Amino acid sequence: MTKPLTKDDYQPGDVTVHRDPDRLRRVTKALKAAGRNIALVPTMGALHEGHRKLIREAQVLQNTVVVVSIFVNPTQFGPNEDFDRYPRSFESDVDICREERVGLVFAPSADDMYLPGSTVTVDPGPLGDELEGRTRPGHFAGVLSVVAKLFNIVQPTYAVFGEKDYQQLTLIHRMARDLNFGLDVVGVPTVREPDGLALSSRNRYLSAEERSAATALSAALVAGAHVSGRGADAVLEAARTTLAAAPGVDLDYLELRAPDLGPAPENGDARLLVAARVGSTRLIDNTAVLLGTGDE
Ligand code: AMP
Repeated sequence: MTKPLTKDDYQPGDVTVHRDPDRLRRVTKALKAAGRNIALVPTMGALHEGHRKLIREAQVLQNTVVVVSIFVNPTQFGPNEDFDRYPRSFESDVDICREERVGLVFAPSADDMYLPGSTVTVDPGPLGDELEGRTRPGHFAGVLSVVAKLFNIVQPTYAVFGEKDYQQLTLIHRMARDLNFGLDVVGVPTVREPDGLALSSRNRYLSAEERSAATALSAALVAGAHVSGRGADAVLEAARTTLAAAPGVDLDYLELRAPDLGPAPENGDARLLVAARVGSTRLIDNTAVLLGTGDE
């Protein structure tokens, strides 16, 4: 017999932490039946101001109860990546959720999420092998598979993601459309430190020197965007020069693409994306650029 829902499953005005996917699904289903919309904010925890911005954007959507998931998903990390040392700060994450008036935190264990012998995954298609996918094979299959599971468990009306992970946001838009999830994917602009560095849970790995060098990524994007009127070659040249001048910044890729990450147009809206290793930490960033409007 499944236990009936009680006030311990959802308390207006406080945050309730759920670990059991089936129980959480029953709670969100009951809230939707009572006329509420559900806005899901998927995270891996170690919450910072970027995550707070996502939560605030979720709060202002129509009549929503916000669900924040906190799950460091093992299937999106490669064998030589930072899964074991990824920062975990569950108690302070829940405090932040309480401050931000989140209704529900979903924090499953890996065993709750992945039953023994589960083999079915979501195939991201060719874009999954480009940009981040070239250095991180299998990463986007892991991301899309866990996000699909979260969508099925939480059944959200809205799902909120950051532009910081622009390729991830693009692929989630596509998955929601291609697999008919019937929800709105909402993208939120990147939150930055005053010196331009995009906030990231991984920034805490950086030494003081590396932290200073890491500003080269956002500076390169700004330098590129600044000369966008002169076209793609000028953008890439300006960004590359900025990155080359930074000590200890090992460039992985710098690419101009269309906003949907297809080939960049000659003129008009485009996206400039960068990934680099600073010490042992891999950082990514991106920005919108308007190519060749002739104002340079
Ligand atoms: P993470 O916990 O790093 O996997 O990120 C969870 C969500 O927060 C993703 O949708 C990220 O794109 C988003 N996010 C991370 N950093 C930022 C940032 N600096 N600004 C806006 N969104 C962010």
